Amino acid sequence: MERRHSLVTGANRGLGLALVQQLLQRGDHVIATCRHPGKANALNQLVGEHPGRLHVLPLDVTDTRSHRELARELALVSDGGPLHLLINNAGVLRGGERFGSVDEKDLDASFQTNARGPLLLTQTLAARIGDGGCVANISSELGSIALRDEFRTPSYAIGKAAQNMATVLLASALRSRRIKVLALHPGWVRTDMGGEQAALTPAQSASGLLQVISQRGLDDSGGFFDWQNQPLPW
Ligand code: NDP
Repeated sequence: MERRHSLVTGANRGLGLALVQQLLQRGDHVIATCRHPGKANALNQLVGEHPGRLHVLPLDVTDTRSHRELARELALVSDGGPLHLLINNAGVLRGGERFGSVDEKDLDASFQTNARGPLLLTQTLAARIGDGGCVANISSELGSIALRDEFRTPSYAIGKAAQNMATVLLASALRSRRIKVLALHPGWVRTDMGGEQAALTPAQSASGLLQVISQRGLDDSGGFFDWQNQPLPW
């Protein structure tokens, strides 16, 4: 049987780590990327538990040199085989922003990580994604323009709204190769970003997201869905 390769960004903690665990459980070969592999203790422990099926590679999604290095290393660890699934999961959220004191650095950081990163990484890896594959961009309902009715987390909301546009554009660019591109809201998840009060465990969210990825087809490419497979307005 052909090996299925999946790649996750921001895989060292939170939702990214849970996605890696579940991709391994279903039998995928997983490329888990993070900024500092040497410090990624949870991932490095998983490598020992899944010999030969998990590769931990460095990637800073804001750094295009890092994207190109990953593309080169990917060819080696996947024996030249195609990537079936790219999950653009890495994200940043600056809490506590208020109108009147929004900082340009926070806006720039959100744009670079949440929007520019997924678009440019997907562009760099596009030739390695197999026809019929999938790009899943982990978005947020906070990036939905239609659902916003208060001044909340502006840097994050603007970054995720821009990511949503990138999803629609990438879906157009990759449609002829039957590669579906989805914007996915993971729910409110108990991670460093979501906080302790959040409704979902990372495992619950990851399980829902992987089901949505499996169930949605090419006709849904360029769409926005939550972890329970419900469509969301832009
Ligand atoms: P966490 O803050 O727990 O984890 C964020 C991950 O992104 C970390 O692995 C972090 O790495 C990585 N990351 C940040 N910047 C970069 C970068 N420049 N390059 C590579 N990796 C980077 O967040 P969650 O796990 O909760 O979030 C995962 C995704 O889900 C994000 O896109 C987030 O916006 C989205 N989301 C989360 C929700 C929630 O309730 N938790 C709700 C809606 C959406 P490092 O350890 O190096 O900082």
